[in-house]
Amino acid sequence: MRTDDIGGVHIKYLHHCRRQLWLYARGVRPEQLSAAVQLGEAVHDLSYRRNSPVDLGAAVLDFIDGDQWVHEVKSSSRPSSADEAQVVHYCYRLRQVGVATRGAVLHYPKTRRTRRIEYDAIEAARAEQDIAEALTVTGAAESPPRLPRTRCRGCSFADYCWSD
Ligand code: SF4
Repeated sequence: MRTDDIGGVHIKYLHHCRRQLWLYARGVRPEQLSAAVQLGEAVHDLSYRRNSPVDLGAAVLDFIDGDQWVHEVKSSSRPSSADEAQVVHYCYRLRQVGVATRGAVLHYPKTRRTRRIEYDAIEAARAEQDIAEALTVTGAAESPPRLPRTRCRGCSFADYCWSD
């Protein structure tokens, strides 16, 4: 993979589970069958139906408002470091193509929570480091080890990882 091939989903998986990133980068797509993902899409559609996704190649984000804030809608109940890293990545990609994004807002419609992250030099460095780490993980010959099973709840790769 090249730097430009790394998108928001890769970064999210990097922070959730490196094995998940490694499998995803190899084209494994159990999401199509996952009830959890289908629920996520339903929450997404009901909550923000009027906005169009923004396609940045490898990264597709939910929408950008008139004040240059990126918005991303999540089906989970509360913010996670993986969600934050994903939207910081979107800000990084937007800056690369000349959009002076100010930061990102994560939306959690299930709990009506939001989390706002200002994009600054620290976040930019974090985004670059995440891309470098994602390339290291995806380029590894062997899959990373599984997480402890308690941390796999809701993961769409669970059947794949725990079929033994
Ligand atoms: S099931 Fe667990 S080990 Fe496998 S990819 Fe998902 S989180 Fe990682």
